[in-house]
Amino acid sequence: MKYCSECGSANLVRRAPGHDTHSRLTCADCDKIFYHNPRMIAGCIVEHDGKYLMCQRAITPRPGSWTLPAGFMECGETVEQAAVREVLEETGARVEVISPYSIFSVPQIDEVYIMFRARLIEFSDAPGPETMEAKLLGPNEIPWDNIFYPAIKDILQRYIDEKARGTFGIYMGCSEDGTVHFMQ
Ligand SMILES: [Zn+2]
Repeated sequence: MKYCSECGSANLVRRAPGHDTHSRLTCADCDKIFYHNPRMIAGCIVEHDGKYLMCQRAITPRPGSWTLPAGFMECGETVEQAAVREVLEETGARVEVISPYSIFSVPQIDEVYIMFRARLIEFSDAPGPETMEAKLLGPNEIPWDNIFYPAIKDILQRYIDEKARGTFGIYMGCSEDGTVHFMQ
């Protein structure tokens, strides 16, 4: 950002306003503060008859890699609505959220992922433009070596393990450190 969106000044500085704990980009002329906060990404792990709904990315970065459907939340929606909408846009599947499954922070890039368990209502097999192909894949069909992001691989692997054990936890953490919480 080069100019203040409030007054057009180029006199932007970084400073901690008042009692704030973080330094913020601030307009030195009109005192407008520009807050920069993490972005929320919502998505779903959708299991149906032992298979998992995955999509092959058509867009950068890493087109051709496989991932779980997820994307940026929009203003005016709940995180669950965002997750369901992203699944529909990226895979053509209508789903219903069951419960939270992973709350995963990536502070290095200021992103927070909230992944839900969801059940399939209808799979029309008509993915949007961000997806080459959407498929329900069994554990042996999942392209484990070509998954977009390591955390996505971890989520899938944990789900498959937990399904075999018959109990699902909720992960909370980041890539370095985190805990799976099981309800008592
Ligand atoms: Zn200004």
